[in-house]
Amino acid sequence: MERRSAFPNLPDRLARLGDLANDLCWTWQDEARNAYRRLDYPLWRSTDHNPVQMLHQIAPERLSKVAADPAFLRLYDRAVAAYDKVKLSKDTWWSRANDSGSTKTIAYFSAEFALHQSLPIYAGGLGVLAGDHCKEASDLGLPFVAIGFMYPQGYFHQKVSAEGWQEEVYEKLDWRDAPIGPAHTPDGAECVIAVPLGNRTVLVSVWEVKLGRARLFLLDTDLEENAPWDRELSARLYGGDRETRVQQEIILGIGGVRALRALGIDAGVYHLNEGHAAFVVLQRIREFLEQGRTFDDALDEVRKSTVFTTHTPVPAGHDAFPFHMVETHLAGCWGSLGDHREDFLALGRYDNGSGTLFNMTALAVRSSSSTNAVSELHGKVTREMWAPIWPGTTPETAPVTAVTNGVHMPTWIAADLKKLFDKYVSGWREATEDESLWNGILDVPDDEMWAMRQQLRAYLFAFIRERMRERWTSERVTPPRVVAGGTLLDPTALTIGFARRFTAYKRPDLIFRNPERLAKILNHPRRPVQLVFAGKAHPMDDGGKHALQHVYRQALDPAFGGRVAFVDDYDLHVAHYLVQGCDVWLNNPRKPMEASGTSGMKASANGVPHMSIGDGWWAEGFTGANGWLIDPKGTHADQAAQDTADANALYDLLEHDLVPTFYDRDDKDVPVAWVAKVKEAIRTVAPRFSTRRMVKEYVQKVYLPALRSSAKA
Ligand SMILES: *Cc1c(COP(=O)(O)O)cnc(C)c1O
Repeated sequence: MERRSAFPNLPDRLARLGDLANDLCWTWQDEARNAYRRLDYPLWRSTDHNPVQMLHQIAPERLSKVAADPAFLRLYDRAVAAYDKVKLSKDTWWSRANDSGSTKTIAYFSAEFALHQSLPIYAGGLGVLAGDHCKEASDLGLPFVAIGFMYPQGYFHQKVSAEGWQEEVYEKLDWRDAPIGPAHTPDGAECVIAVPLGNRTVLVSVWEVKLGRARLFLLDTDLEENAPWDRELSARLYGGDRETRVQQEIILGIGGVRALRALGIDAGVYHLNEGHAAFVVLQRIREFLEQGRTFDDALDEVRKSTVFTTHTPVPAGHDAFPFHMVETHLAGCWGSLGDHREDFLALGRYDNGSGTLFNMTALAVRSSSSTNAVSELHGKVTREMWAPIWPGTTPETAPVTAVTNGVHMPTWIAADLKKLFDKYVSGWREATEDESLWNGILDVPDDEMWAMRQQLRAYLFAFIRERMRERWTSERVTPPRVVAGGTLLDPTALTIGFARRFTAYKRPDLIFRNPERLAKILNHPRRPVQLVFAGKAHPMDDGGKHALQHVYRQALDPAFGGRVAFVDDYDLHVAHYLVQGCDVWLNNPRKPMEASGTSGMKASANGVPHMSIGDGWWAEGFTGANGWLIDPKGTHADQAAQDTADANALYDLLEHDLVPTFYDRDDKDVPVAWVAKVKEAIRTVAPRFSTRRMVKEYVQKVYLPALRSSAKA
């Protein structure tokens, strides 16, 4: 393995720029962001904000220049001081909250983590949630490590053909430019572990990502010692077939626990974020058996310290494998558990309607002391959907709690807006979840708030234009595609954003259900409206790709006057501009298939009110005044009828409410009623749907009880 990037050419006065670049906590520290932006603005832009890459590319003359620039040095010193405060301070929220007597670590397992665009090991919402959870765990000072997979080719880059068909491009990550380095065992060796897979052994190297007070370890099978097919196992996220998937999950679960042991980390809670990592429990039961415990006793011990979060309200969305497939790949994993193989396999046995399979969610539920869903409504759906797994309970009494998702506010709130919060909502950084604090937002003068919204929208359009300039000049795309990418968008018009995974249940093209009615809304001569779309379809999801193509064709269609845009290659970077810069955030899933959704939380906290079906978090987040509820008044068993009803409810809202409110201006040209919505969105969403509230809730409801009961053991 190559070493973590060292930067021998840094002048002494700026030596610590390397430390800052190699710890992703710079991504949510304004001081560090300011320093890197100022260090070399064109490079900051051309690297998509990647300080590691910047430090490799920066000209020595530029370094000498800033090293002698007092204004830059002030920024630099502030960034270093802020970083040292995070690393050295012992007085954290956790140090006060932890009444369990435990000194053990919380180990959080997830198949994907979205921390920053320079580390492309995520596909969508699940990854963003995991990434934000880690960042918050660092802020609160939890003893916290996360375990995931290093995907050297990551998730794909999206290209869209002239016909609107998605093409996937996999690029091998350049290690040198990523904020990662080898993880070390307590004796200083680079950490490499062995995982039995089928009848062979696969070696797995472990990378470390620094995240302030937390750490993320990534498992990688791309070692020379491994057979070519084993090296490929960690190559891509969700890229392979079922066989690949089950092997990846064995590596994540069993390899993850082995990595913790090799690293000398004493975990007291094992948090399984979605069922992918549920093989953690296999390895742990086996360890207890090897200490001489009985199977029941071992399972009991494992349960006390295992907690599980489920994210999928659709039966088919839960990973399940035929027994013979699981048995083939687990062949070498049993050890002392061999005598109880049937008992173990029974933990995963479940028929979700398509035959009895080994179900990863069933395994996780049956071997955890806590199962939680990710919104109140999703809790209800989960209790009903999984009722058979708890014999003797009813959907009302099934032991599933809900911890509604949140987003990491320091990551998602626009820098300019944070300054506004500092002025009017003082204390928001320390007490983000304090709802009354946010009443301060009501004191912001309307014209100041409106100027902020206009500014953030301008940043979005500058970003979109620059992206299309790049496609036009270096890729020579045709003029219609330059239009479809958003170059004709009007920087003053009401802008609706829709960005998320393109898949059938999210209905990305619902708004085009009645194209004539929509065209009238968009092309209104005095009150134009425009739509900005972004999102990837899973490579195997043809339905999602067709929806994408449908949207792209509308963007190419002159009937919409260049007021429909599709921004390609959606990732965290694009997401930031969109959730901060649009005016409205649209969400129209088929209810109740959206477990929570988080992009609407990011948008609302930036003063981009949510217009959504009452699904996921919006079922509890909508107050009547902080956005809009797309309410079709009644449900239809027939999907097409439901789609039409939902689309009509959406048009009604646009025509009768959003458009008039947005364009009704006072004598200073401020849309007063609109600004009231903006403030209400921020005021009500920023505290409640923050990861600050969420992780504290995990600590109180889930982590501390687990630590207390395992401390007693
Ligand atoms: C927030 C986010 C998501 C999740 O969006 P949902 O609305 O929950 O579907 C997906 N991808 C990226 C890049 C995001 O930032």
